[in-house]
Amino acid sequence: MPTTIPQKSQILIVGGGSSGGVLGILLSELGFDVSLVDTRDPTLPFLPDSRAFALVRGAWRVLEAAGVAQKLIDEAEPLLSMEAHDANGVLPPAASLFGVDDLPDSDRGEPLGYMIEVDLLNNAIRERVQQCEAIKLYAPNSVTALATGPDCARVTLDDGTELQADLVIGADGVGSAIRDLAGIRTIGWSYEQAVVAVTLQLDQPHHGAARQWFQEEGPFAVLPLTENRGNLAWFRNEAAGLATAKLSREELEAEINGRFGHLAGPMKVLRDPLAYPLRLRLAETLIADRVALVGDAVRRVNPLAGQGFNLGLKDIAALVEILCESRKLGLSLADGSRLETYQQWRRFDGVSTALAMDGINRAFSNSNPLLTPFKRLALSAGTAIAPLRRALAAQASADQPGLPALVRGQPLSALG
Ligand SMILES: Cc1cc2nc3c(=O)[nH]c(=O)nc-3n(C[C@H](O)[C@H](O)[C@H](O)COP(=O)(O)OP(=O)(O)OC[C@H]3O[C@@H](n4cnc5c(N)ncnc54)[C@H](O)[C@@H]3O)c2cc1C
Repeated sequence: MPTTIPQKSQILIVGGGSSGGVLGILLSELGFDVSLVDTRDPTLPFLPDSRAFALVRGAWRVLEAAGVAQKLIDEAEPLLSMEAHDANGVLPPAASLFGVDDLPDSDRGEPLGYMIEVDLLNNAIRERVQQCEAIKLYAPNSVTALATGPDCARVTLDDGTELQADLVIGADGVGSAIRDLAGIRTIGWSYEQAVVAVTLQLDQPHHGAARQWFQEEGPFAVLPLTENRGNLAWFRNEAAGLATAKLSREELEAEINGRFGHLAGPMKVLRDPLAYPLRLRLAETLIADRVALVGDAVRRVNPLAGQGFNLGLKDIAALVEILCESRKLGLSLADGSRLETYQQWRRFDGVSTALAMDGINRAFSNSNPLLTPFKRLALSAGTAIAPLRRALAAQASADQPGLPALVRGQPLSALG
């Protein structure tokens, strides 16, 4: 029901997906007064999602701080290494891209990260949001208007409700309405590819390795899940990907075993496949007057190295830290110089990852024979797809100075 007297909160988060949910939990646990608007009806189950996410250890620590990782740990598979293989025999037979020993703090025995099925992740975040009584939830609702002024930001919902807040955070995904309403422009393009994702029962032990076989169309990846299951991420051209997702389980099983069984061993398909079209989208800025963006509202990157939500969790950790500092200093939560600090902190990471993934995708998902020597050199010269390796190392290393405190494993109480 629309409210006639505008409700005021310190922070209004628009978008209650994985980014908005985790951000809402952290801010409410830290004693901020938080409202959360989401288009999804919280009484309905999520639409099926056949993906599994690779979350690196720093990202996992943010989920721990939010009390989400604890709900997932029994169903999460530790990620121990990442491998690149050549499906066509052009490149060296196997190149280990990255292993747990590559991290500076490998002696702690922590894995690179965890693989978790998205259905489980969504439910765990929703459960934790519902446990946070301090979060005022407006759902199913969407935002239709935004106005900012010297005292507050005003947001109008589709049912006419007006909400006010000191700061509005856009966590409303790649098509962010808040980003558009705040006048923040984006750049981007379609990759004309889609990823087919499905859960598999594997025959060969996966040993915690995420394996990718590069092919002309794009990589075919099998990512490790519990009980020696795997998550297939098959990068295809868009039309082929969408058609593949329409196959029955039996048809898909025959297709992938016929094409890749000699590489990945026998695979059984455990659920219906889905296809995810791939786009690049980057916001030109992360902030506007009384507005900050996090997660896919800032950037949608190619999921070649499973980076998107990892970047979003770093945004969240950085923004939470800055808002706590503003509160301690007695500054407005929308203080322009503090928001600028957030932007400076997070902008480069997102853009560099997006461009690295874009470059790798163009170089490796390409049948141009002129590129074959380059590909061979890239893998065999030990550079092992250097930008990918660097991006992975940067994401996986969780103890570098300059990373937000929650990513480095500091407890939430240290921020308050
Ligand atoms: C094939 C594939 C594989 C991937 N694998 C990985 C991986 O392994 N690791 C990883 O870290 N990342 C991965 N990603 C990236 C990851 O999916 C995203 O980065 C992440 O889901 C973004 O979450 P978000 O909450 O920012 O956005 P979303 O999940 O899009 O959530 C946005 C929320 O905002 C709500 N909303 C939208 N508009 C409005 C509005 N106007 N008003 C109110 N609410 C609104 C929506 O209902 C939704 O709840 C992958 C992506 C793809 C496509």
